[in-house]
Amino acid sequence: MQQQASAGAAAPEPVHELPEVSRRDIVQRLLKLGAVSLAAALGSGASLQPLLARAEEVNPRGKKKRRYGMVIDTRRCVGCDACVAACKAENKTPPGVSYTIVLEQGLGERPDDRPLFMTKPCFHCEHPPCVPVCPVGATFKRSQDGIVVVDYDRCIGCRYCIVACPYQARYSDFGDNYPAVEEHTPWASVPSPEYRQFRTRKEGKSPEGNVRKCTFCLHLQDENGEYDRASGRWPACAKTCTGKAIHFGDLNDPTSEVSLLLKERQAIRLKEELGTEPNVYYLL
Ligand code: SF4
Ligand code: SF4
Repeated sequence: MQQQASAGAAAPEPVHELPEVSRRDIVQRLLKLGAVSLAAALGSGASLQPLLARAEEVNPRGKKKRRYGMVIDTRRCVGCDACVAACKAENKTPPGVSYTIVLEQGLGERPDDRPLFMTKPCFHCEHPPCVPVCPVGATFKRSQDGIVVVDYDRCIGCRYCIVACPYQARYSDFGDNYPAVEEHTPWASVPSPEYRQFRTRKEGKSPEGNVRKCTFCLHLQDENGEYDRASGRWPACAKTCTGKAIHFGDLNDPTSEVSLLLKERQAIRLKEELGTEPNVYYLL
């Protein structure tokens, strides 16, 4: 069951801006997947109308205005996992699905060495390898802010994107539930605000069976696509970080905190050699 956002609030823009999908794109994707007969049927004129109609309906083809990203200070992260818990509480993710994790690299050889902790959400890559492998266009990068999303109503759960992501940032929702959900306690009926769709967990219903990932708490944007830290509309992990290690903002804005940090401090991105251009940086 889906619920609408609270009555009286200004109607927000849809958080899913679907990419345009041409017949040619789909035929090429099917051929790559080896689905030759279906590709041939589509190539000879079989109807694509439902997909095309939906894409045209909701895609305003807006220009990208922002590039949201994170700058994570490895010197400040204490490995407390508060970001992991905050993300779970915000997005109501089930067992086995965690949109952010904290990696720990062990102690060095010197007695005063401390472990290195790195919190690791989806990197919302500029060139995300997870996107082109999706055979149904369910995962895509939003043109207006660079956030990579999954349309649960399109996703068929094939998990190609999990294999393609070099950062292990995607998870499959196998339908597992916490005991509180299975026993239908009041907690079980709390809908997830994800994508502002407010879905409650129901056996066999989306997002069960879908692939899921961090969205930079996209549902907290206002109707102009902006976050507001002062009023709490800020990604849950960054808002909660006890060490103040997670900085979030618009990397296209030269005056944003994240842009200024990148000018002042030495930063790295993981697996840069792959050309994915992650929008999450780590300060050393
Ligand atoms: Fe896609 Fe993985 Fe990059 Fe996230 S980190 S955008 S899931 S390739
Ligand atoms: Fe696309 Fe869903 Fe398959 Fe991922 S699991 S590639 S989002 S259809």
